[in-house]
Amino acid sequence: VQHNCEVIGRVHSPFQEKFGIPRQPGLAAAITGEIELLPPWDTAGTVERLDEYSHVWISFIFHQCVAQGWRERVRPPRLGGNEQVGVFASRSPFRPNHLGLSVVRLLSVQTVPAVKLVVSGLDLLDGTPVVDIKPYLPYVDAIPGASGGYAPAAPGARLAVSFADQPSRLLAEREDGDYLRRSITELLALDPRPAYQRDRQTGDRVYGMRFAGHDIRWTVTDSVRARSWSRSRPILPGPCSSRGRAPLSPT
Ligand code: SAH
Repeated sequence: VQHNCEVIGRVHSPFQEKFGIPRQPGLAAAITGEIELLPPWDTAGTVERLDEYSHVWISFIFHQCVAQGWRERVRPPRLGGNEQVGVFASRSPFRPNHLGLSVVRLLSVQTVPAVKLVVSGLDLLDGTPVVDIKPYLPYVDAIPGASGGYAPAAPGARLAVSFADQPSRLLAEREDGDYLRRSITELLALDPRPAYQRDRQTGDRVYGMRFAGHDIRWTVTDSVRARSWSRSRPILPGPCSSRGRAPLSPT
């Protein structure tokens, strides 16, 4: 059977690049996003009684990996990036059909002005095409005693996170500062660095990610220190600039 999937929705998430996105949903639980339904599926009817559930499954396309094709074997970050497993024994994006599956918390279902699901804990890039939505059914989807192969438990926080004075002050001034601070802390605590870089001493190296329209910069010492934070692209290690504000300089 040849079947073409239609894109029924679009993800709006604070993740604007792949680097830094948690490797599974729920690992950074504070982070919120939306699944916006597209016509002709954007009706109050398609989501009727969905709000009775606490969690939903999102089937989506790893659209930013489609061009790279698929691999027979992959190197899961969980195994340190050295060991190989079969693609079907992994949750790698580099799979035939590039279909992804994430369970997320459903915060609310909105039907006006657009039909959308407000969700949290997502591991999805902004703009991800969604092909299906299903309620999470605890009696069938949660299996006590199931074995998790080479990933038997959540990886958990790996690093302690602290903010430099300047980003702390900027965050304190903002209405969404608490949300940003919590989200960034969760993300950096997971240590987004590739596995092969984790065991090396990289105290001077500055890492960066785009999150919710902001450039987040950090270094890893014995703890993560958010070096600077601004609306526009800061130039490091020199002073950073940001639109409509005095220049920032990282500490
Ligand atoms: N929970 C899903 C995804 C696991 S892989 C599943 O098991 O199928 C998670 C990684 O996919 C993230 O860390 C991010 O780097 C990547 N990712 C998320 N959205 C993507 C997209 N639209 N295209 C390509 N990669 C994406």
